[in-house]
Amino acid sequence: MNSEPITSHEAAASPLMKGRSRTAVDYRYLRMARIWAENSYCRRRQVGALVVKDKMIISDGYNGTPSGFENVCEDEAGVTKPYVLHAEANAITKLARSGNNSDGSTLYVTASPCIECSKLIIQAGIRRVVYAEKYRLMDGIDLLERAGIEVEFLRLEGLPPDDVPEEKRQDEGGR
Ligand SMILES: [Zn+2]
Repeated sequence: MNSEPITSHEAAASPLMKGRSRTAVDYRYLRMARIWAENSYCRRRQVGALVVKDKMIISDGYNGTPSGFENVCEDEAGVTKPYVLHAEANAITKLARSGNNSDGSTLYVTASPCIECSKLIIQAGIRRVVYAEKYRLMDGIDLLERAGIEVEFLRLEGLPPDDVPEEKRQDEGGR
């Protein structure tokens, strides 16, 4: 992805930070979020999310019912139950029960956040959102941008499993 533009204000701010290496790391976290989505028992759609801060994954989530509820997302008609939590909401509320702090973190999520999750993202102090799939309704993304959150779309489809040149790997430490 050599044509990937450097859209991060952080990348622009630091002369040592290479936009491309940052993007390579972003792709890896996003791939991890996609793998994490496989934990979801929802049939209609599986979404995964990771919250990363200071190079550490501080939370994770996938879409599903609340703790203690049946592991079935859809009703008999195949409609998603109203109490199913989205991956982002699960990752953010998991932080509420941990000693971690999401202020200034980055959220990686395999689908564009809805408006409800976007409200939570804003209030959780997440500063950056990297997502992989665009959906018809983009009001969540619009809200994030209005709140001044850096939003980046990365396309995972059709990407070879390891597209990142070997020499780029060592750049990660300087991120
Ligand atoms: Zn949502």
